[in-house]
Amino acid sequence: MTNVSEIFGSKVFNDCLMKQRLPKDTYKAMQKTIKDGKRLDISVANIVANSMKDWAVENGATHFTHWFQPMTGITAEKHDSFISPLNDGNIIMEFSGKELVQGEPDASSFPSGGLRATFEARGYTAWDPTSYAFIKNNTLCIPTAFCSYGGEALDKKTPLLRSMEAINKQAVRVLKLFGNETITSVKTTVGPEQEYFLVDKEMFDKRPDLLFTGRTLYGAMPPKGQELEDHYFGTIKTKVSEFMGELNEELWKLGILAKTEHNEVAPAQHELAPIFSTTNIATDHNQLTMELMQRIAKKHGMVCLLHEKPFAGVNGSGKHNNWSISTNEGSNLLEPGDTPHENAQFLTFICAVIKAVDDYQDLLRISVASAGNDHRLGANEAPPAVVSIFLGEELSAILESIDKGMAYDAKEKTILKVGVHVLPRFAKDTTDRNRTSPFAFTGNKFEFRMLGSMASVSDPNVVLNTAVAESLKQFADELENAEDFNTALHTLIKRTISEHKRIIFNGNGYDDVWLKEAEKRGLLNLKTTPDCLPYMIKEKNIKLFTEHKVYTETEIKSRYEIMLENYSKIINIEALTMIDMANKDILPAVSAFVQKLSETVIAKKGAVSGVDCTYEEKLIEKVSALNGLMYTKTKALEDALTKVSDIETAQKTADYYRCTVFEAMNELRIIADQIETVTDRKAWPYPTYADLLFGVR
Ligand code: ADP
Ligand code: MG
Repeated sequence: MTNVSEIFGSKVFNDCLMKQRLPKDTYKAMQKTIKDGKRLDISVANIVANSMKDWAVENGATHFTHWFQPMTGITAEKHDSFISPLNDGNIIMEFSGKELVQGEPDASSFPSGGLRATFEARGYTAWDPTSYAFIKNNTLCIPTAFCSYGGEALDKKTPLLRSMEAINKQAVRVLKLFGNETITSVKTTVGPEQEYFLVDKEMFDKRPDLLFTGRTLYGAMPPKGQELEDHYFGTIKTKVSEFMGELNEELWKLGILAKTEHNEVAPAQHELAPIFSTTNIATDHNQLTMELMQRIAKKHGMVCLLHEKPFAGVNGSGKHNNWSISTNEGSNLLEPGDTPHENAQFLTFICAVIKAVDDYQDLLRISVASAGNDHRLGANEAPPAVVSIFLGEELSAILESIDKGMAYDAKEKTILKVGVHVLPRFAKDTTDRNRTSPFAFTGNKFEFRMLGSMASVSDPNVVLNTAVAESLKQFADELENAEDFNTALHTLIKRTISEHKRIIFNGNGYDDVWLKEAEKRGLLNLKTTPDCLPYMIKEKNIKLFTEHKVYTETEIKSRYEIMLENYSKIINIEALTMIDMANKDILPAVSAFVQKLSETVIAKKGAVSGVDCTYEEKLIEKVSALNGLMYTKTKALEDALTKVSDIETAQKTADYYRCTVFEAMNELRIIADQIETVTDRKAWPYPTYADLLFGVR
């Protein structure tokens, strides 16, 4: 048995190690840097770097890297060794403060949306000391932010840190109004639940679509899918449980609090939930978790699919972003308190979130937009593309009574007054029942459920933090000038509920009736990535980000371009892969199958005159007709692609990929899947859905 407490964090240069290994004043300086974001003096950085290096070398590391998260959404690293030559031909292992604090990766091939003109292709990475350094593959990894020399953010981390600062600033203002003098900072916390599929590696390797695009572009449904729901929380197969065991151990070594794991609804689908941590750390940890999942799966002869929709007709994979705000004193601001005063504060923060989600529905939708996630949102398994909030009966009833000035509890007949009455605590089971809501209050946190499984959790949290910061800013502006705080607060809360209650919906989010109702309420329903992206550059959204110093206007526009381009590139690769598979594998394989059938007919007729060849002849007819149609659809897709180069803007290109190319892909697939169901198993060139979904034993 593994001794968890012994290995936990053993590959992390954490606080405990710093305390042990650093001189007292260096440790103090580090603490200041971590807590207050104070810049580290170079002489201090030298000492920290040296101590980190010693520890890393003792633990088998030979290299170091600045570990960062470019806008590709995955992590990047460039390794340098610690080796430094001496005059006598020997070497020493060295790592300087300068190398720790700042790096210069050759950044020219990372997406920048035009931010980094090629003549100044350099970007630099800067240490984020709030996220601990760690060892991975014999390399000391320094978590860093990645910026251009002009200071523009080129990564997913910089804006996240800025958004955390924005909400910190505004929340502390609001908390002061409630008389909290000892709270000096707040941090948002995140616990991302991660879904994924495991498939057999040998089968994976035989599927060009999985290899090139991460999802199956063809594939007929097997006779058994997920309808029996017998996989959900079912017994975990040996191979999978060995994988999970090793994954947990490696995650624990990295100080990642992997806690629960279980099978999901779809066959071959699983989930891992960590214990929550501060948002930037949770983001780093989620990236590492995804990376380790993929690496460790291979060791066990499997491939971990992180794509949002690896299999059509089978549930896709998402991430649930559990989000809350906590103070430097450790209290959770979304936890209802025991006194009327605490409850008033709780309601203020709840209202700030409600207002934020309503005002910035579009940005929240955009923050989870990708070609992959388009397959989920709005389909009958994931939240709809419409953003709404689930509050549960109790909290909804409380807000309604405030809104209408009615008694909350009919028996008591007292009208609930903010700051005067005590609210009940919300039992988790009364708040967590609705699994169809995109944004649900679950007792002491909100769970944003629209995230795709593959993307970094950074973007949605940037939006959440910033949008809530804006609500809190408006609240603070209003309340700071109030003559009577309690009256002003009551008015503010009442007004906020009344203005934003349209975003609250406690019913079934999968129901079509809701979509109609949502439209009546004026909520946005942005179905696809190209549909929602134009909202990113709306004036109100640019204003939000620039005012809170999270993005500059240039940064937003470059990100908009990158997202559009990325979408188009993905569909393009998928279309090319489909064409390739059709031309080189499926069409020839089916044709050969027909040839075999025809030869059988001839042989049979030569052997016995008047013999019955119904089966072969009917099949030849059917399969030939379908293969002809498949050829036509392949051609149509090829033709659709040739017209792309004539389109002028990135937005129009993305729209074209969505409306024309993607539709042509769907048409081709329908035919191919029909042929698969009537073709000899042995003649089909790829492992089937049944092989992939039930192949891990
Ligand atoms: P489940 O949703 O599976 O019933 P929980 O509600 O206990 O389980 O937790 C789900 C996720 O929410 C976990 O990753 C957990 O760490 C996270 N979580 C719990 N409290 C918070 C919080 N205050 N802030 C952010 N995430 C949290
Ligand atoms: Mg959950």
